[in-house]
Amino acid sequence: MKKIIIAIDGFSSCGKSTMAKDLAKEIGYIYIDSGAMYRAVTLYCLEHHLFRTDGSIREEELQRQMKEIHISFRLNPDTQRPMTFLNGNNVEEQIRTLEVSSHVSPVAALGFVRRAMVEQQQAMGKEKGIVMDGRDIGTAVFPKAELKIFVTASAEIRAQRRYDELKAKGQEVSFDEILRNVKERDHIDQTREISPLRRADDAILLDNSHLTIAEQKEWLKEQFNKAVHES
Ligand code: C5P
Repeated sequence: MKKIIIAIDGFSSCGKSTMAKDLAKEIGYIYIDSGAMYRAVTLYCLEHHLFRTDGSIREEELQRQMKEIHISFRLNPDTQRPMTFLNGNNVEEQIRTLEVSSHVSPVAALGFVRRAMVEQQQAMGKEKGIVMDGRDIGTAVFPKAELKIFVTASAEIRAQRRYDELKAKGQEVSFDEILRNVKERDHIDQTREISPLRRADDAILLDNSHLTIAEQKEWLKEQFNKAVHES
């Protein structure tokens, strides 16, 4: 069967990665979480003191060090879920903390960071057969993707999902802080100069505020079958 590229974009914490991961597994495609790449760069910045105390980034220093940042993915043999590696270390857990979430959007707004990530993402999609989720996959990374989905849900519902997820992992977090972070990231992601978060003209809109995971899965599979037939 012909392989296609599936681009899933949308707001933070709206379940994009869950749906993208599940679909990829079911149809035997590779799944790439592009947000994990921006998170890994952010973790690198935190570990290498590239944030000033006022939260601004030492841009020139980061730009100089970009060539020393190597990000890769490997499948966890037990869960079959992808794990993110930064310079050979498994950072899958560390990149999901609220500290990384609250520093990532300014890092992802830097042109030289985006160029480096987009180049790697495009190389990963060369053979097609890939599901990638993020903010600019359908608009900048794969503007010719055969299937584009734009996912949204209310900020409160998204914050609640992130809260439940972090709590389940045993992290001490406050709902209000997460809601603030979700809204702040939406704002920065939508208003940045380079590749802002926006729905591609040919992306299918999915508001999953009131959908169960099973309903969403079913819907996505239908879109996939349609796209494969039409391509
Ligand atoms: O998807 P996730 O919430 O993990 O992404 C973390 C952050 O990385 C986003 O808030 C956004 O600032 C940035 N990002 C991006 N472009 C992508 C994916 C993520 O700018 N394709």
